Parts: sequence; C-alpha cells; structure tokens
Amino acid sequence: MSDPNELTVLNPATEEVVATVPAATAEDVDAAVVRAARAQTGWAALAPADRARLLRRFADVVDAHTEELARLEVREAGHTVAGARWEAGNARDVLLYAAGGAERLVGRQIPVPGGWDVTFQEPLGVIGVIAPWNFPMPIAAWGSFPALAAGNAVLLKPAETTPLTALRLARLALEAGLPEHLFQVLPGHGDTAGRALVDHPDVAKIVFTGSTRTGREVMERCARLVKPVTLELGGKSPNVVFADADLKAALDPFSFLDNAGQDCCARTRVLVQETVLDEARAFLADALAAVVVGDPADEKTQMGPLISGRQRDRVRSYVPDDAPALRGKAPDGPGFWFPPTVLTGERHDSPAAREEIFGPVAVLLPFTDEQDAIRLANDTPYGLSGSVWTRDVGRALRVSQAVRAGNLSVNSHSSVRYWTPFGGYKQSGLGRELGPDALTAFTETKNVFLSTEVPAQ
Ligand code: NDP
Repeated sequence: MSDPNELTVLNPATEEVVATVPAATAEDVDAAVVRAARAQTGWAALAPADRARLLRRFADVVDAHTEELARLEVREAGHTVAGARWEAGNARDVLLYAAGGAERLVGRQIPVPGGWDVTFQEPLGVIGVIAPWNFPMPIAAWGSFPALAAGNAVLLKPAETTPLTALRLARLALEAGLPEHLFQVLPGHGDTAGRALVDHPDVAKIVFTGSTRTGREVMERCARLVKPVTLELGGKSPNVVFADADLKAALDPFSFLDNAGQDCCARTRVLVQETVLDEARAFLADALAAVVVGDPADEKTQMGPLISGRQRDRVRSYVPDDAPALRGKAPDGPGFWFPPTVLTGERHDSPAAREEIFGPVAVLLPFTDEQDAIRLANDTPYGLSGSVWTRDVGRALRVSQAVRAGNLSVNSHSSVRYWTPFGGYKQSGLGRELGPDALTAFTETKNVFLSTEVPAQ
C-alpha cells in the first residue's frame, strides 16, 4: 500500500531507497494551475524568436547536465547508463527541434470574396502531461517541450516510481531563464494528482502515456469537459521475418529487450516464416544466452532490472516455470530481475501472444506466407509499431501498407525519431507526438475574416 502523502523512489537494481518526495495533492494541482495560467499569458505574448531563444538555452543547460541526468535515470529507473545518456540527449534534441518549430508556427491566408481571411494558431493555455516510468525523460519531453514552444504552460505529472529526472529538468528550465511556473512538475499519485489534472477545467489538454486501461479512463474523464487528449498507449508489435531476410539483423534480441522490454514499441511478437523457424530458434537461444544482465550503472551491462516488484510479478504471470521457452540469465537479487525470455510454445491467440507484458519476454510464432504474416501481424487490439524484414521490395511495400500500425520499419527496428510523427492505431492510442506537426497539436486554429467591402456612404 503506497503512502498517499509521499513517494518512495527505489533503485530497481538494489531495492535501496534513492529518495522520498512529497506527493502533490489535488489542492497542489489547483494552485499550480493558477500559477501556470499566469505565467502562460506572458510567455504567449513573447515573440516566437524569443521563446525559441530561451528553449535553445534550456537545451544547452540540459546538454551540460547529460551525465548527471543519465546517472539519476539509472538510479531511479534501472536503465543502462548508455540508454539513459540517449534519453537525456533525446530530451535535448526534442527541445531544439521544438524551438525551431516556435519560429515556424504560422497561420494561413485563404482567398475569399469580399475580404481577407486569415488563420491563427493560438496556444491552448495550460497543458497537463501525464508520463509513465518506462522512459521518464523522453516521454516527458515529447509531451512538454512542443507544448511550451507553441506558447503554452505545462504541468507535468511523472510516474510515482520515477519523479526525479522530471524534477531536475524543471530546475534546469529555471536555470536557463524560462519564466517561473511555466514548466512545473507535480510528483504524485495517478489517482490523486493525475486525476486532478485531468478533471481540472482550466487544464486545456491532456497528453497521457501509459496503459490502455488508464488511458481509457483519462479519455472518458476528458470527454465530460470536451477536453482534447493525446494518448500514447500500449503495444504488442510484430516483427515479421521472411525467409529471405538477413536473419541476424532481423532477430536482434534488443528489438524486444531494450529497456528490459519495458518499451511500448518492443517487437515482442516474433513472426518467422516456417521454413527458417529452426534456424531462428537456434539463433535466438545463443543470442539470449549472451545478453549481459546486471548492474545498469556498469558500462558493459546490456539489460537492467524491471522497474518494480509489481512489474516483475506481472511479467512472471505470463511465464510459468514449465513453459517451453528460450531463457537467458539474470541476477538473483536484491533487485527486480527477470531473464531475457522467448516463449516458443504459444498459440498466436494466447494471452502472452496478444497482451502487453512489458518485460523482457517475446513469443516466437511461425507463419506460412505473406497473407498469413499480415493476418497474424494485425491480430491484436494494438497497432503502435512493427518491423518487416525481407529483401523483396514489393513484398516490403505490400506488407507495410497492410499492417495497421503507426510506426513501421522495413529492414530496421527503429521507431522513434523526434522529427517524424509517433503514435498508434487501434487501442495503441490517439493523436501523434513529435514530427513536423507536434506544435500544431497544442494550438487552436482561429479563423478571422476582415471585410474589404467599401462602406455605403
Ligand atoms: P499507468 O497507465 O497506470 O500509469 C501511467 C501514468 O498514469 C503514471 O504517471 C500514473 O501515475 C498515471 N495514472 C495512473 N492512474 C491514473 C488516473 N486514474 N488518472 C490519471 N493518471 C493516472 O501504468 P502502470 O504504471 O500501472 O503500468 C501498467 C502497465 O501499463 C505496464 O505493464 C504496461 O503494460 C503499460 N504501460 C505502457 C506504457 C507505454 O509507454 N505505452 C508506459 C507505462 C506502462 P502513478 O505512477 O502514480 O500510477
């Protein structure tokens, strides 16, 4: 039972307490909204180039603190130090890209008879960003920084297990000269601080990343206020490997083990053409055995622990001890460890093959031909990401057009680039983050008509 007044941040690799943080209450959220609204008025009135200049300065400060932020992420989230450095760098890059967007955010002039017609992209006001624990810095950045660049204020509620890097980013924003209260972090519980943000009438939009279950509740509550919402939810992404593919690259185990599999884009459904299934199984067995799992602060470590005991129990529930599987190694404890695992005896419609496990666990499933691969790839409620591996260009195009997912890659496992749109089909979410339209999602379009009719004398 967690303390309603306090968050206890544990190091997932050791189970030692890293910090305790007071939990924001609904009253704290109310007060923060008032302060943020005040700060937003002045911020929106700045020239876009001045907003951009301050955000670039913020990016410089983040850059100068990369190592500190990364080490903090290692301690609170158990991420490998290399992964955590990438995350701090991603937050900086999103800031720089958003800063450029501030200067390019423009309206349009539309020809109309009898006058001029002009559109404006106006900031929404105060934005609520609710972030999860799996990539605390990047996901906070994707929701918050384009919103700031478009002239909004941001209230960020990090996950209760990982509030520390978010709090540090807010301090760094002040050091860089961003106005006070413009970017506030509200560490707290989802059912108090999170709900208070969602329900607040003066929070103009919610950006939520997390489970489909909580995302559905957030959307229902936003609907009562007709509040716009962006949802980045779960995934169960297919990795479709045809027999003619480069099997070694296609079956890279870090396509599902990155961040110990706590990745909404993880390619956890490994669909392999049946003629190369045995070869794939042998390759994966060797690859899993070679994964270095251990202290995430060690530069040589490739996979760290899961975020919490609760998450480890959830992952375990999908992997009975006697399940047919390929297994790597993991330390005994303390720490929330789970070995890299590929389940080999699942049906394509079993819970482990259809539900988001969010741990270092994939399922290996055979397919016969292109149509079978497409059918299996689409047979989940999710549609976030996926890969297609083949040397046949026509087939690559046909399959990537037929798979219903927001972020597909051909002969690659990459999903996220801050300059391309990111988001899901089906129950993986609603709306897009990042990319050229990221700022527009934090604006209202206003249309103004100016009559040029000569007034009657
Ligand atoms: P949640 O979706 O419950 O949490 C995500 C964020 O929402 C956290 O900040 C959480 O706060 C907050 N939150 C929780 N309840 C509410 C609420 N009623 N109103 C507003 N905000 C709320 O995910 P969990 O941490 O419970 O993880 C469970 C599963 O969700 C994982 O196993 C995984 O499958 C999936 N998940 C998917 C993610 C993705 O990137 N798509 C990210 C994280 C999880 P608090 O931390 O206090 O609970």
